[in-house]
Amino acid sequence: MALNNLEVLPTATPVGYVAVDTEADRIRRLVAIHGSPLLILDCDAVRRQYRALQDALPGVDLHYALKPLPHPAVVTTLMAEGAWFDLATTGEIEMVSGLGVDPARTIHTHPIKRDSDIRDALAYGTTTFVVDNIDELHKFVPYAQNAELLLRLSFRSPDAKVDLSKKFGCTPEAAPALLKQAAALGIRIKGLSFHVGSQAASPAKHVEAVRACARIITETANAGLPDLDVLDIGGGFPVDYQEEAMPIELFCQPIREALAVLPQGVRVIAEPGRFIAAPAITAVSSVMGKALRDGRWWYYLDDGIYGSYSGILFDHTHYPVDSLEFFGERSPSVLAGPTCDSIDVIDDNIMLPALECGDLVVGRMMGAYTSASATEFNFFRKATIVTINEVVAEEFEVIPLVG
Ligand SMILES: *Cc1c(COP(=O)(O)O)cnc(C)c1O
Repeated sequence: MALNNLEVLPTATPVGYVAVDTEADRIRRLVAIHGSPLLILDCDAVRRQYRALQDALPGVDLHYALKPLPHPAVVTTLMAEGAWFDLATTGEIEMVSGLGVDPARTIHTHPIKRDSDIRDALAYGTTTFVVDNIDELHKFVPYAQNAELLLRLSFRSPDAKVDLSKKFGCTPEAAPALLKQAAALGIRIKGLSFHVGSQAASPAKHVEAVRACARIITETANAGLPDLDVLDIGGGFPVDYQEEAMPIELFCQPIREALAVLPQGVRVIAEPGRFIAAPAITAVSSVMGKALRDGRWWYYLDDGIYGSYSGILFDHTHYPVDSLEFFGERSPSVLAGPTCDSIDVIDDNIMLPALECGDLVVGRMMGAYTSASATEFNFFRKATIVTINEVVAEEFEVIPLVG
């Protein structure tokens, strides 16, 4: 983590005074102010990830999917970067609407919607929706004048940690009939979308899906159906956890090559969530108590599986976790959460130095699918989120949002 921007921390150093400050110092200071458990959201990491993905996918409009980290500071940071947004629920619409996001920069991508969900999105001004079946298509008959659709296709992805093509998406074989039915109903399907699954191990599924979509786009034009001129390649871009992921530039290279063979004039968009959010949060918790059980130290933290570490269960993620400081020898230990449930164990075999009550433990890459799925089970309050390196408010005013 970069050791920059000390001046925006709540305990700003006096002007002209340059403190020699380690990351550990700053974490300790933030915990002293805000308490533990604490999630430190670094907006610089959001910017860095957005720019890295944009560099790796030039010309692709990146719609941040709010689901992994629906936090206002992430949205405003990305607004200032010129990002677009991928929304799935009325709650997400309310968040971006309250922050002044231009609805023209948003799409609604939940494949299954109630009529009220469609009306809420249209009332805000989102006009692009996603469908994957005939029933969902019929829901747009009353809104055919105002709404345009993307048809979500399914490309199964057994090697992704979270296979999103299992739950949603029509088969490529089913696409032509749905496109014909939409045309007959007077509903505009303007493009195709897919989501191969989160934390993809390789770009192979993205590439396969782009190629299949390119074929469907060409065949649709040849069949005399309305042109498909949008391709939404979804999310799934991976980050490093305990296991390293492919660097994003390498990951995207074959995707860029596949996109290059799309027919002229097709606008390409993507829906990254994890890639932008994951590196942005460092989780800090403290040791509440400890016990030697069967020759192994158990350390009980004030955050756990039911809190910020919920992604261990829901997202199958192994976060890099360590004590803030390490003195002396490490020995195999157990890191447990605070609740009275025995499933609430973060790691049952982790090499840790001897810790005392109050010592801090730090989880990295904790921005995506962590606090978003945290509960307050057993009345342990969710971790406080503190943001650092946020852009000052005046700077938002001058960013043009009309795209
Ligand atoms: C969850 C989700 C995303 C984000 O996926 P990541 O793997 O986190 O990038 C994007 N689009 C849709 C439709 C989603 O449901």
